Amino acid sequence: MIRYNDPRRFGAWLWQPKGGEHAVLGKLGPEPLTDDFTGEYLFDKSRGKRTAIKQFIMDNAVVVGVGNIYANESLFICNIHPKRPAGQLTLNDANLLVDEIKQVLATAIKQGGTTLKDFTQTDGKPGYFAQELLVYGKQGKPCPECGEILQSVKIGQRNTVFCPECQKD
Ligand SMILES: [Zn+2]
Repeated sequence: MIRYNDPRRFGAWLWQPKGGEHAVLGKLGPEPLTDDFTGEYLFDKSRGKRTAIKQFIMDNAVVVGVGNIYANESLFICNIHPKRPAGQLTLNDANLLVDEIKQVLATAIKQGGTTLKDFTQTDGKPGYFAQELLVYGKQGKPCPECGEILQSVKIGQRNTVFCPECQKD
C-alpha cells in the first residue's frame, strides 16, 4: 500500500507504460543544478517572451524545481524586478540569475531546506534556510540592502516580495 499526502497539491502521480516518455515529463526543462542550466540557455529560452521573469523561472518547462522562495531571493540578489518581461533579460542578467539560482538552491539544500508551515526535516526539526532569507515573507520590513520598505505583489497567484529601489524594471 502507498499512502500519498500532498497538502499543498504541487505533486503528481504519472502512469508510464514501458517505453516512450510521458507527455508531462517530456516537456520538462533541465534541473537547475545541472550543467544544462546555463545563462545562455535561459537567455535563448526567454527571447520574445512577455511572461514576468519570476513566473518564467518558476515554469517547469523552462527549469524544474525553482520554487517561489528561491525565485524571490534570486531576483532580489540580482537586482531584477520580478515583473520584468523575460524577453528583456540581457545575457548578463541571465548569467547572473542562473548563477544565483544555483547558489541559493545549493545553500538551501546544505542547510536542510526552508521551513514552511508543514515542511520540516525528516527528524522533525525546522529547516534553517528560513533564517537567512533576505526578502521572502518580509514585506513591510526594510530592504536589507537600501532600507526602502519591501513591497509585495501577486505574480501568477504567488506572493512576490521585492524592493522597489533595488529591483528595477
Ligand atoms: Zn533595496
